[in-house]
Amino acid sequence: MSGKYVQLQPETGFKTALNLNGDTDSPAVDLNRDDRPREACGIVGVFSPGHDVARSTYFALFALQHRGQESAGIATSTGDAIRLHARMGLISQVFKEEDLADLPGHLAIGHTRYSTMGGSKQHNAQPLITDGPRGRIAVGHNGNVINATELREELAEQWGVNFDRTSDTEVIAEMFARAPGRDWFEVAWYAMRRLKGAYSLVIMSKDELIAVRDPLGIRPLCLGKLNGGYVVASETAALDNIGATFIRELQNGEAVVINKDGIEARVWPAARRTHSMCVFEQIYFARPDSVLNGQLAYDSRRRMGAELYQENPVEADLVIGIPDSSIPHAIGYANASGIPFGEGIIRNRYVGRTFIEPDQRMRDVGVQMKFNVMRSIIAGKRIVVVDDSIVRSTTTVRVINMIRDAGAREIHVRVAAPAIISTCHFGVDMATMAELIAANKTVDEIRDHIGADSLAYLSVDGLKRAVQVEDDSYCKGCFTGRYPIAVQLEMDKLALEPAGV
Ligand code: SF4
Repeated sequence: MSGKYVQLQPETGFKTALNLNGDTDSPAVDLNRDDRPREACGIVGVFSPGHDVARSTYFALFALQHRGQESAGIATSTGDAIRLHARMGLISQVFKEEDLADLPGHLAIGHTRYSTMGGSKQHNAQPLITDGPRGRIAVGHNGNVINATELREELAEQWGVNFDRTSDTEVIAEMFARAPGRDWFEVAWYAMRRLKGAYSLVIMSKDELIAVRDPLGIRPLCLGKLNGGYVVASETAALDNIGATFIRELQNGEAVVINKDGIEARVWPAARRTHSMCVFEQIYFARPDSVLNGQLAYDSRRRMGAELYQENPVEADLVIGIPDSSIPHAIGYANASGIPFGEGIIRNRYVGRTFIEPDQRMRDVGVQMKFNVMRSIIAGKRIVVVDDSIVRSTTTVRVINMIRDAGAREIHVRVAAPAIISTCHFGVDMATMAELIAANKTVDEIRDHIGADSLAYLSVDGLKRAVQVEDDSYCKGCFTGRYPIAVQLEMDKLALEPAGV
């Protein structure tokens, strides 16, 4: 076993051992970083006796890299002990062939992280492992628990928990390790009564895999079949990537326990009937080839574009989308309007995280590293630019400038989502209220600010039609200011960090 690996025997202090991974906390520079909302995490769990579950988990995580790029980790179990490899970086940077070879077992969970609570630090890389009366467990979490600070104090005082990380996931892990309950379902119901907010979870003991979706169902989680065993993952695209067969999405408030005896699923009796899944998963976060709430995200996005045209038509020569995420919406707008769709902007798909700092001049032209406008396609035309969201507007301003410089005659910006007027509290890092442009300016003021000839957003009703719901399902809090549960208006993602860290 090399020094990078950690065999987690019961008597081993895993918290010390985790640091043996040798990574510093040095943050990479993300050249893709702009004013896009940031998703929290991707999670995977695999139970498949007789198969290389670490490899399956790795390739499933690979399909979820868009959900988080700060750290990645896999924990596996042979039935005797849990092993962990977790460190800062992209999945391809974190795992080499020999790392997977050192993760044997028939049971695995995996995680790729973007921090929404707790800093981007090695000690917050997941899966997290902790010990309790029911043995050692590993936990991977997607979401954001909004009462983590209070629960942390309570668990420290009443259960004597010694917290030494700074994420809400540590609170979840300690709760599942120590909560009263005769089986995993009773433990999950206890946690559902106490935890407030968003949490899709994969949890493993040395011989069982547990998947949990919070009672609101804010973050996605799906179940599939693989090699005679089972897999759970944030998105169906991860199942596709490893040849698993999609079974179904977990319901809000559902827990699934998988072990050598098979699979058992139950829904918390107190869970609401309607889910409050984040509608931004449909708009932007999830891969277009993932199925959410029974609908292919790609189809939902084309319908958003079509609704956007019905509500906000304009005469133009060409429809383009800001690549890659806005392309399905732009195709929907073009199809509904009869205006040709074209690719006027090319995105460098290989721009990503680097440990080389750009200088200030390069920062100033940062968006050019990512986008390039094709002048011959744009010049002299009236262009509809479809974007899937505007947060602060910094990217939009730069892209509009580039299109104008390329000779566009008119630029009409159409946003395939409603204006973002409030912050997210459920696992999406957007901006503060002061930074959200639509919380502080009118549509006309934003149009002038970004330099467009016209600007229009999809309405909330148009969005509901596009995702084909008439009821009050889906969280739409950042568009309406009304959330599925009470929230405090501004949350600090570093609330659990010690001062000065
Ligand atoms: S507030 Fe917005 S981003 Fe956050 S969960 Fe709700 S819909 Fe999603």
